[in-house]
Amino acid sequence: MRLIELQHITMTYQSGGRLHQSEVRAVRDVTLHIEQGECLALVGESGSGKSTLGRIAVGLEKPTEGRVLFKGHILDARKVDRQDRQALQMVYQNSFEAANPRFTASQVVEEPIRYFRLAPKNEWNQRILELLGRVGIPKDEAEKKTTEFSGGQLQRICIARALAARPELILLDEPLSSLDVSVQAQILNLLRHLKEEFGLTYLLISHDLETVYNIADRLAVMYAGRIVEEIDDIELFDSLRHPYTALLLGKDTDVEQKPAAEDKAVAGESDAAADDETGEIDATADDRTEGCVYANRCPYAEKRCFELVPELTEFEQGHRIACHHCR
Ligand code: ADP
Ligand code: MG
Repeated sequence: MRLIELQHITMTYQSGGRLHQSEVRAVRDVTLHIEQGECLALVGESGSGKSTLGRIAVGLEKPTEGRVLFKGHILDARKVDRQDRQALQMVYQNSFEAANPRFTASQVVEEPIRYFRLAPKNEWNQRILELLGRVGIPKDEAEKKTTEFSGGQLQRICIARALAARPELILLDEPLSSLDVSVQAQILNLLRHLKEEFGLTYLLISHDLETVYNIADRLAVMYAGRIVEEIDDIELFDSLRHPYTALLLGKDTDVEQKPAAEDKAVAGESDAAADDETGEIDATADDRTEGCVYANRCPYAEKRCFELVPELTEFEQGHRIACHHCR
């Protein structure tokens, strides 16, 4: 069953004052779906629009264009009902910000149980300890303040809070990014086991392709607000070949054509949008309305890449690419 359907989602933010209005096109015409029980990984570098799309998917923000269907009905961010709010939970990168510093671990987990009235009061304590135990927080730590836990432990507590709501989908927005590498592996394992045990559905946002390989069932790569590559089965991971995905993977694409530096010069474009110091791109500094979002950085870009938006089309079964070269 399709749990979530994102249809032609566009999100444009207005920024600046009255005199210097500018538009930030955070998400551009994205169509995606999430099947019940799967983990869809959304991967891309910082600023590519992942969090915006994630917030839209769980009804926290209303898109400028397009619509979100949750279990077949329209999810309107301005009036999400209690049942849907309960079904759509979130775990964020920074659990120190996400958890109230005055709360104990058990109070953090109690919140959704109380708010959504998920158990009679005399059962709360047992339910809280059960959930904390399930994520690896022992009973005798339940009354410790959130500030006394490490980042990894606190992330476990935030996962328990999300579980407490009995969710149907959990948005995991860079849940490992602020953790040490060894802790990352533990949390990833925990998330994988919980998904199996509770039949959960995840939208997992990450900037790291290798990490998501270990948990994702499907994968979409996002760049400057657009999905540039998508696989319906993680088994196709080795076939990923969009020039941007290849860059993320640190591998050469086997795109046939040689780099077309001359064409690029003809198009009169430069690498102006790329920030030399961080290597990060400010996608929004790119004002072209036509053409491939990756053209400015792509070693294969030629004239048509600056002029024509490449459609996300089937490259092989279950594998779609938006690239004029990968055909
Ligand atoms: P990611 O999660 O991939 O790092 P985001 O979705 O956070 O990307 O941001 C995408 C773009 O949208 C960025 O340029 C960001 O500055 C901009 N953006 C995100 N949220 C807002 C907002 N509330 N107002 C204005 N611009 C925003
Ligand atoms: Mg983000």
